[in-house]
Amino acid sequence: MKQFWSPNSINKNKAMVENLQSHGVITSDEVAKAMEAVDRGLFVPDRSYAYVDSPLSIGYNVTISAPHMHAMCLQLLEKNLKPGMRVLDVGSGTGYLTACFAVMVGSEGRAIGVEHIPELVASSIKNIEASDAASPLLKQGSLAIHVGDGRQGWAEFAPYDAIHVGAAAPEIPEALIDQLKPGGRLVIPVGNLFQDLQVVDKNSDGSVSIRSETSVRYVPLTSREAQLRGE
Ligand code: SAH
Repeated sequence: MKQFWSPNSINKNKAMVENLQSHGVITSDEVAKAMEAVDRGLFVPDRSYAYVDSPLSIGYNVTISAPHMHAMCLQLLEKNLKPGMRVLDVGSGTGYLTACFAVMVGSEGRAIGVEHIPELVASSIKNIEASDAASPLLKQGSLAIHVGDGRQGWAEFAPYDAIHVGAAAPEIPEALIDQLKPGGRLVIPVGNLFQDLQVVDKNSDGSVSIRSETSVRYVPLTSREAQLRGE
């Protein structure tokens, strides 16, 4: 597994962001600012591991992604996370990345999380409420997390400038492409055992261009029942 620094070498959110910058994972000021503003420690079950470059279990057979994966996805979507833009986060889990998205698109934008485990939705809302950067956006309504099957996207606020999927799909769900704006970008891990992080750009004529960024290992985008059975 890829890891950019070892456990216990850092314990602060800002140092984590600086590490990601020095390793070239974060290159944009906006991404660095968002990750500095949203303390990852508020989103993980055990704060002592919050800043280690590793995924962590969050229960229900799933994990919060490693910081370098969150940073990579924020970088890939950065041009589609400008103030006022709309973003959908499928499989929002802890709410960490949804909160970063919300901070980037700001109070004029919209950041929507969809997660199929109701308990994770409830705890993600508590996590966000504890964040000085994200809680005003939740109160004001530009940030929201919903219980639902993210394979259907979230039609209410479509089309989106950016869609992120935090779990690996056997194939790209059609609804997510439908809910992408022309000029919009979808970042999604695709595959079963071997997965690629795919970057899907919707062109102005509605066609899509797809490329693979890197190989990755995510938990599956699946039904709630299959996930809880550990399949
Ligand atoms: N990006 C989040 C969570 C990653 S784990 C974070 O870093 O905190 C993937 C998440 O996708 C899990 O919370 C899992 O419950 C959720 N998930 C899996 N299949 C889903 C589906 N069909 N609809 C909605 N959420 C799903």
